[in-house]
Amino acid sequence: MQAHYAGRITKLSESITIAISTLARELKSQGKDILSFSAGEPDFDTPQVVKDAAIKAINEGFTKYTAVAGIPELLNAISEKLKRDNNLEYSTKEIIVNSGAKHSLFNVFQALIEKDDEVIIPCPYWVTYPELVTFSNGKNVFIQTTQENHFKITKEQLKQAITPKTKMLVLTTPSNPTGMVYSKTELEEIASVLKDTNVWVLSDEIYEKLIYDGTFVSPASISQDMCERTITINGLSKAVAMTGWRMGYLASKDQKLCKLINDFQSQSLSNINSITQKAAIAGLDGSADKDIERMRQAFKERRDFACEKLNAIQGLKVSKPDGAFYLFVHCAEISKDSMQFCKDLLENVGVAVVPGIGFGMDGYFRFSFATDLESIAKGIERIKNYCEKH
Ligand code: PMP
Ligand code: GLU
Repeated sequence: MQAHYAGRITKLSESITIAISTLARELKSQGKDILSFSAGEPDFDTPQVVKDAAIKAINEGFTKYTAVAGIPELLNAISEKLKRDNNLEYSTKEIIVNSGAKHSLFNVFQALIEKDDEVIIPCPYWVTYPELVTFSNGKNVFIQTTQENHFKITKEQLKQAITPKTKMLVLTTPSNPTGMVYSKTELEEIASVLKDTNVWVLSDEIYEKLIYDGTFVSPASISQDMCERTITINGLSKAVAMTGWRMGYLASKDQKLCKLINDFQSQSLSNINSITQKAAIAGLDGSADKDIERMRQAFKERRDFACEKLNAIQGLKVSKPDGAFYLFVHCAEISKDSMQFCKDLLENVGVAVVPGIGFGMDGYFRFSFATDLESIAKGIERIKNYCEKH
C-alpha cells in the first residue's frame, strides 16, 4: 500500500520544547551527564491535598464518563476562582474543561480560525501557537518585540498589524519564553486599539500564579468590551505542578462558541479524566494555596540566582522576568545561530536549553529555572565555561 497522509498534518512540526526535553531525558538514560533546563515543567511534586482528592475519587468509584465540559462541582470551582482571582464573572455554561491548556488552545483555534484568517502573535511566542494557526489554515502575523521594550508589543505596532482579515490576537501574560507581564495600563492601550474591531483575544494565563514582581491582570477584566472578545485560557499544569494530570480550561462570554466547542469535544475527547476532575477541584478551591505559594517562593529565589549568574557571564544578557519560570537569554555576541549554540552546549558541556529560533527569535536561548538550585548553579557554571572558550 502506498500511504497518503492528510496535508494538514504533514505541515505540523514537533514541539521543539518537547523534542529537546525528550532528547535530554534519553541522553541521561544512556548514562550521559546532562543537566536539562529545557522543559517548562515544575520539578515539584503535586500537592498532597490534590493527590488525596484523586485517591478518594478512585476509592469511591468515580471512574465513569462525565459531562463533556466537566462535572458541575469543577465548573463551579473554576467560576469561583475566576471571580476571586481575576475579577471575572463566568457562569458554568461559559466554561469548558479540556485535557490541558494546550488542548483548550487547539479547540479554540479549530472553532474560530479558517482559511486566510490572520492571527496576530507577538514574537517571541510560545512554540505551539503558530503551528495551531497553520493547522487551521490561517495565516500567522507576527509582531516583533525587542528586549529594550521588555518583549512587549506597543499600541502602534498592534494598530499597524490589524487588517480586515485579522481574526484574533494572542496574548500570553506572563509570557513563555520571556516571563514579561503586561500591566493594566498596557492592556488598556491594547483594548483601546481593539475596540470597534471584530478581533478576538485569546488570553493564555497558564503562568498567572507565577508572578514575582508587580501584579497580574486578566485581559478580560479590562472592560466590558474586552470581556466579550476575550477567551480566557488557564490550567493547573504550572501553578499546581500538575503537568501529567492534563487539566486546562477555557472561558468565554460567548455561549454559542462554548456550545460549538462542547459539541466538537463531544466528538473528539468527550470529557477529561474523571479522577483528574476531582483532583482539580482541590487545586482550585484554595486547599492547595500554601503549596502554590511555597513553589512560587522557590521559583523566585531561583529566578534571582539564575539571572544574576547568567548576567555575569561575558557575552550573555538577560532581563529579569516578572513572572513564569523562564529566562530568555541574549547570546548573539557569542553566536547569532541559536540552534547551533544550543547544540554545541548540549554536545560540549551537557546542558540542554531551547534555541530562541523555536520561539521565533534567533540570537537567544530559553533557560527554564523550574529545576533545583544546585542543578541551576552547576548548569550555569558549565554555560560559563563554554562561553569563555567561544
Ligand atoms: N500555554 C503556554 C504558554 C505554555 O507554556 C504551556 C506549557 N505546556 C501551555 C499553554 C500548555 O500547558 P498544558 O497543556 O500542560 O496545560
Ligand atoms: N510549555 C512547556 C514548555 O514550553 C512544556 C512543553 C510544551 O508543551 O511545549 O516547555
